[in-house]
Amino acid sequence: NQNSNWKQIDSFLADEGPYLVVSHVHPDGDAIGSTLAVGFMLKQLGKTVVMVNESPIPYKFRFLPEIDHVHSPEEIAYQAPFHRVIAVDVADAERMGEKVRQLFTDSVDLLNIDHHPTNDRFGTVNRVESEAAATAEILCYWATHLGVNMDRYLATCLYTGLLTDTGGFRYSNTTPEVMELASGLLRQGVNPGEIADRVIETTSRQQLALLRCALDTLSFSEGEKVAWMWLTRENFQETGANEEDSDGIVNYARNVVGVDVGILFRETEDATIKVSLRSREIVDVGKLAQTLGGGGHARAAGCTLSGSRDEVEQTILNKVSMALGQGGI
Ligand code: 5GP
Ligand code: MN
Ligand code: MN
Repeated sequence: NQNSNWKQIDSFLADEGPYLVVSHVHPDGDAIGSTLAVGFMLKQLGKTVVMVNESPIPYKFRFLPEIDHVHSPEEIAYQAPFHRVIAVDVADAERMGEKVRQLFTDSVDLLNIDHHPTNDRFGTVNRVESEAAATAEILCYWATHLGVNMDRYLATCLYTGLLTDTGGFRYSNTTPEVMELASGLLRQGVNPGEIADRVIETTSRQQLALLRCALDTLSFSEGEKVAWMWLTRENFQETGANEEDSDGIVNYARNVVGVDVGILFRETEDATIKVSLRSREIVDVGKLAQTLGGGGHARAAGCTLSGSRDEVEQTILNKVSMALGQGGI
C-alpha cells in the first residue's frame, strides 16, 4: 500500500494556508459533503481555507452548512495561484475540471484523499482507501486522528457523504464501520430525516419529466441482462431540465429484475455523450469505464465519449457484452 500515513499527512498541514479544497465536477453528496467537512476541520485547526467546485452546487445540497462558501473558480481566481491543494473524492486530476485546475500549477503540493479504486494517485501526498464506502468515511478517521471537535455542522456534512455514496445505507458498501460512524454522527445531533428528505426523497418536476423521456427509450439485450436508456438534448430542452436532473435515472434500468448492467446515455451540452453505468453483481463497470477514459467503482461508474449516438451505443454495448461473456472482467 503506497498510502501516506496520517503522520505524513499531518506535515501537509504544517502551513497556515490558504488551502484550496476541491472535488469533482458535477458534485454528488460525498463530493460536496467532503469539501465542506475538510473546510470545517481545517478552520478548527486555524488554517485559511478556500473551497471551490467547477460546477454549480445542485439544489438538493444547498441546505448544507456554509455551502455559500463553496465558490466557483471565477470567484476566487484573483487569489490564484494556490500552493496547497486538498482534493477529495477525485479519482484523477481531470475530474477537478478545467477552470479549477487553472487555479494552481502542475508543481503544486496536492493532498489526494479518495476511495475510488481507479484513483491514479495524482497527488504529491495520497490517501486512497478503496475499501472505504465514501471519502467522508476516510475523513471521519482523519477527524479523529486530528482530534477536531465533531460539531453538528461537520457531522452533517460527513453524514451526507456516507448517506449518498451508500445509496441511503443500502449498497453493499454499507459496512459495520459505516453504520458505526453514522451512529456516532447522529449522536452529534445530525438530523437524518431532514437530510434524507432533501437529498434522496425530493424530486423536481423537471426530473420526473426527464425520467418519462428516458423510460420511453428503455431497451434490453443479452437475454435481458443489459438495459439502457437515452436522454437527448431535445429531452432537456422540452422538459426544461438541467444536467443534475438526470441523476439517479440510470438506476431504473439497473433495477429491472434479471438485469446486471443498467446504462444511461446522455447527450451533453458540449456535444459529447456521458455514459452512466450501474451493475448488480457480474460486470465491474469501473474497470470497463476505465478502458474508455472514465472510471468509478465496480457497481457505479461512468465515462464520456464522442461520436454519433449509434457509435457510442455500439461501443458500450459491445464492451458490456464481452464483459458479461467473460463472467465479468
Ligand atoms: P455517474 O454515473 O453518477 O455520473 O457516476 C457514477 C460514478 O462513476 C461516480 O461516482 C464516479 O465515481 C464515476 N465516474 C463517472 N464519470 C466518470 C468519469 O468520467 N471519470 C471517472 N474517473 N469516474 C467517473
Ligand atoms: Mn463522488
Ligand atoms: Mn465518493
